[in-house]
Amino acid sequence: MTRTLGIHDSVGAVFPPAVLAAELDGPDAVDVSIVGTGDLDGLDALVTFAHDDAFLEADLRWVHSVQAGVDKFPLGEYEARGITVTNSTGLHGASVGETVAGYMLSFARRLHEYRSNQERSEWAWADREDSFTVDGSSVSVVGLGTLGKGIAARADALGMDVTGVKRTPTPVDHVDRVHPTGELHEAIADAKFVALAVPLTDDTESMVGDAEFAAMRDDAVLLNVARGPVVDQSALVDALRNDELAGAALDVFETEPLPEDSPLWDFDDVIVTPHAAAATRDYPENIAALVTENARRLAAGERLGNTVV
Ligand code: NDP
Repeated sequence: MTRTLGIHDSVGAVFPPAVLAAELDGPDAVDVSIVGTGDLDGLDALVTFAHDDAFLEADLRWVHSVQAGVDKFPLGEYEARGITVTNSTGLHGASVGETVAGYMLSFARRLHEYRSNQERSEWAWADREDSFTVDGSSVSVVGLGTLGKGIAARADALGMDVTGVKRTPTPVDHVDRVHPTGELHEAIADAKFVALAVPLTDDTESMVGDAEFAAMRDDAVLLNVARGPVVDQSALVDALRNDELAGAALDVFETEPLPEDSPLWDFDDVIVTPHAAAATRDYPENIAALVTENARRLAAGERLGNTVV
């Protein structure tokens, strides 16, 4: 086992580091301490939320991200220094899948509208034209990894027609048609909902902008649980203002927290969630299972699970 594993205090952005430390404190326990950036001496491995350049200068062999997305980590520099980076993909299919199912049900059944009415003690039906069932409706899921598969399985169970996009268009359970990235417009053209579930990379930055909003139905709803910069946010605001899009549910943004003066707060048909699509009370426990197994592998000289570089 790794004897010297640090939990960086940035993990506190997602859950208290002490909860993870307690989870890791079992019979085969690793020697865990909660550390700040100035306190990395003697550590073999570090569990962290955020990247810090100090990690590259320390004597670390392994850095684990408590998020699936590692777009803020300079992966080339880690690789050049021989530091293995692992991420937390594989944990979020159910949580994010249910969040996206919730977004779609809210738009179909107008639940966000009724909640807003309730705040004003207002008893009023939504416009009948705006109410529908997700049963018989359609979703295009862009990215079919852990998140995308979690979304597709729930959409299929709700009776929806499911289209998907991935780099390698191999068949995926619960997805009726899988398109390669080059057929994005074709994949999103007929969908009532377009759900984004790709990592943020050079290829996916601004993947959805003016041309994609033009390709989508005017009554379509965009769902973004990937990363903010996957969408051109000003093009999104324009599309909402110009009724080229019926609404959006957004968990991630170009700038987080979403600034108070962002126009996205003010649309009736935009649901804003605070990068919380994957939040669950058992998240530290799930991270601990990943970290414990990888600590064992590191000690045994085996390849780590969820290796990014
Ligand atoms: P996975 O690695 O399991 O899946 C990524 C999927 O995206 C794969 O299907 C991959 O295609 C596809 N993909 C990658 N690049 C492209 C591209 N250029 N065009 C089309 N498809 C592409 O990742 P996860 O599902 O675990 O997570 C995805 C991202 O979601 C994370 O990187 C993170 O940024 C975000 N996320 C957000 C959360 C939240 O709280 N909102 C929680 C967890 C993740 P292929 O299968 O062909 O390789």
